[in-house]
Amino acid sequence: MIYPWQQQQWQHIHQLLEADRLPHGMLLLGNQGLGKADFSVAMANAVLCQSPSDDHQACGRCKSCRLLAAETHPDLHYLSPKAPAKSKSKNPVMSIRIDDIRDLCETLNQTSLYGGYRVAIIEQAEYLTLSAANSLLKTLEEPGQNVLILLVTSRSNRLPVTIRSRCQILRFSTPDEDISLSWLQANQQNDVSADQLKQALKYADGSPLAAMHRLSQTEHQEVLTAAMTASVSGKNSLEYAVKLAQFTKTSTLEGMLSWVSDLARLLSCGPEIAITNEHERAKLQALAKKVNKQRLFRFQDQLNFNLLHGSIAVNEQLLWENLLLSWDNL
Ligand SMILES: [Zn+2]
Repeated sequence: MIYPWQQQQWQHIHQLLEADRLPHGMLLLGNQGLGKADFSVAMANAVLCQSPSDDHQACGRCKSCRLLAAETHPDLHYLSPKAPAKSKSKNPVMSIRIDDIRDLCETLNQTSLYGGYRVAIIEQAEYLTLSAANSLLKTLEEPGQNVLILLVTSRSNRLPVTIRSRCQILRFSTPDEDISLSWLQANQQNDVSADQLKQALKYADGSPLAAMHRLSQTEHQEVLTAAMTASVSGKNSLEYAVKLAQFTKTSTLEGMLSWVSDLARLLSCGPEIAITNEHERAKLQALAKKVNKQRLFRFQDQLNFNLLHGSIAVNEQLLWENLLLSWDNL
């Protein structure tokens, strides 16, 4: 799928295909929630389709397209981070391992089953282990004919330079607000007001798909808001720890970080400054009056540490209890 904000990137692919100069390796870079993975699938479909349109988009009708729609095309391969086969941990270490890359490269070296391209999409490529990355490097350096490897990442700095330097980079940037808002409006299932759309987009740093996801996560947001404002509402925040443990850890941590940055903004720039959690401005202002800046930054470090070491197995209820306790004592 090509989203309205990806026209420029598609134009670039179109030109490469016209000139028959598609590189063997491409790195699709940009923030989360911009639809890079969908774009990579559209690219794969375009090169595998047997009768693409004039602007090189897949026809959706040929045999290849039907296999692609059924996710059974033998010349398209996907890799994404996986937990170790025998892991029983609730938060296992996710990675893309050397064995999977070896298998992939071996398949890419074989003749294509449909006589055209062989395509690999590696999602969240930053999860490649070092040995997997080294193994992939060989295929990126000497790919067979008609091989296309698409690496998708929102954290390219975690990829080895050697991999990055062997790929053509395709950047995706945050679209203008009006483009995102009209797309969200057109694709929203629920009854959501224009203000709520704006708010979700702001919270998602302008990424439309992340905003869409957020809109579907209303319950999570309500629990998080209740937990973060418990102390000013005269309630006990620890009661929310059990509930928070039901949601994705990363998005709760990111949500908490947005509260921290709102507080930091209010402290540094005064009550008029724009904030992310606009709907709770009054409570955030009340919090800002009692917060100690140093403790706030220590709390931010605590959140970032947990985000960075997200793979460490922890008792989540305990984690939220600790964090909420720190938050209440800022
Ligand atoms: Zn087709």
